[in-house]
Amino acid sequence: MTIAPPSSDTLFTPPLPDAAPRDLCTDCGLSRTADPKRCGRACQFIRPDYPSMERAVHGRSRDPKRPDEPFFGPFRRMLRAALRESRPGAQWTGITTRVGQKLLRAGEADVVLCMAADPADRWRPRPVLVTDPEAMALCRGMKMGHAPLLALLETARDRGYRRPAVIGIPCQVYPLRVLESDLGFERITVIGTPCSDNTTTEMFHVFLNLLTERPDDVTYLEFMHDYHVEMRFTDGSRTRIPFLRLPISRLPADFFPLTCRTCVDYTNVLADLTVGYMGGEGEQWLLVRNARGEELLSLLGDEVRVAEPGSAGKRRGPVKGFIANTERAAGGLPVRGMPDWARPLAGWLMPRIGPRGLEFARSRLEMKAAETVLHLRRTHPRRMKYMIPDHVWALVEPYGVMPLDGERGRDDRTRVASTTSAATPQAPMARTIGNGVPS
Ligand SMILES: Cc1cc2nc3c(=O)[nH]c(=O)nc-3n(C[C@H](O)[C@H](O)[C@H](O)COP(=O)(O)OP(=O)(O)OC[C@H]3O[C@@H](n4cnc5c(N)ncnc54)[C@H](O)[C@@H]3O)c2cc1C
Ligand code: SF4
Ligand code: SF4
Repeated sequence: MTIAPPSSDTLFTPPLPDAAPRDLCTDCGLSRTADPKRCGRACQFIRPDYPSMERAVHGRSRDPKRPDEPFFGPFRRMLRAALRESRPGAQWTGITTRVGQKLLRAGEADVVLCMAADPADRWRPRPVLVTDPEAMALCRGMKMGHAPLLALLETARDRGYRRPAVIGIPCQVYPLRVLESDLGFERITVIGTPCSDNTTTEMFHVFLNLLTERPDDVTYLEFMHDYHVEMRFTDGSRTRIPFLRLPISRLPADFFPLTCRTCVDYTNVLADLTVGYMGGEGEQWLLVRNARGEELLSLLGDEVRVAEPGSAGKRRGPVKGFIANTERAAGGLPVRGMPDWARPLAGWLMPRIGPRGLEFARSRLEMKAAETVLHLRRTHPRRMKYMIPDHVWALVEPYGVMPLDGERGRDDRTRVASTTSAATPQAPMARTIGNGVPS
């Protein structure tokens, strides 16, 4: 399907050719450029080399001796953060789009590439070029789905822009960084968000239809750190649903595309600044990864309030339970019934005793790493040695998930298969799916 021409003057989307057919692909946009063969070199899903790319971007790869780098990749500092004045329509407080706006205002970027909402569907991402700082406000909020962000780089270059800023998710940022030095720009600034459990816009609508009788009125949805989904509606009302009450068992088994179950960079390690929430205990969570990231943060000046991130609870039980359920589900959604009488109690307990702050973020990294291994082992075993970086194996090793013969690439430390035992005890939040969502 050819992407239609621009919907407004302030948010420009050029007409784009169709995506080339690819197997594991999130249509980052590269296959729609003049040289689609570059996918072979640059794609996160083919043969990623994170240590080399981390060195190229940050001057060093993640250091297993530095606290939390095995989980979150190289960083200078981590912060809990919030804009003092939260921006309307933002997913959290709007740090991401505000940084884009500041870059344009300061002339440090001459164009921003990011996602706006499709005019016909507020949940469908639409890649746009933004040059008017005020128009960054139109890009606030999370959209669900994939859209060809990187295809706009050629338009940016053809229009003479020299210093683009790109706001992207990890499977867009990896190919961008691989090709960065070939693209001919003076400088590219990268603001990344973490990403997990994305799905197609169509599938997301299926989910919304199960969640509420007013799916067309939902303007906002987020999986909160306190184990609730928050939805906001056009009339200003809000609903919070405990994870345990989500209609997960009614979703199709292929709700999450295989790409999003097996991607290996949850926290966007090649961004200059990662802006997420899962280590923020109800606020935003920043990973300042390099000197450019520090400059981006300083653009916000006093507008942003920052603090040390906290950490509490223990992740080991929930992660073990998640892995056992994922193994049992054999490719479907890791759903197991919990008696209805137990759900309110478990729902009450989880925000109090489950992992919180950085411990919650660590638990999500380990769960995602386990999903990658288990899903690829079932569907694409021969790709494992190329697709799974060592840092992913390191995250699952403490849970007994080990590479089988031929599954590990660079240092082929193969071992006898020994995954978690079926008798693994289940912690209250252990019945999880996707974003740590218990069923
Ligand atoms: C699919 C998805 C899953 C995510 N999962 C997690 C998670 O598990 N843990 C976590 O900590 N953070 C996650 N995030 C990031 C988080 O939701 C917030 O976007 C981030 O914290 C920034 O908040 P903000 O208020 O600063 O953003 P805003 O200022 O509101 O800006 C949002 C930015 O997100 C971009 N964006 C929106 N939708 C998409 C999309 N579909 N593809 C690419 N870019 C998009 C827009 O370009 C915009 O610049 C996810 C984001 C997405 C898109
Ligand atoms: S995700 Fe991007 S780089 Fe990978 S195959 Fe698809 S278009 Fe190519
Ligand atoms: S979950 Fe991974 S593969 Fe899917 S959109 Fe997000 S970064 Fe890309």
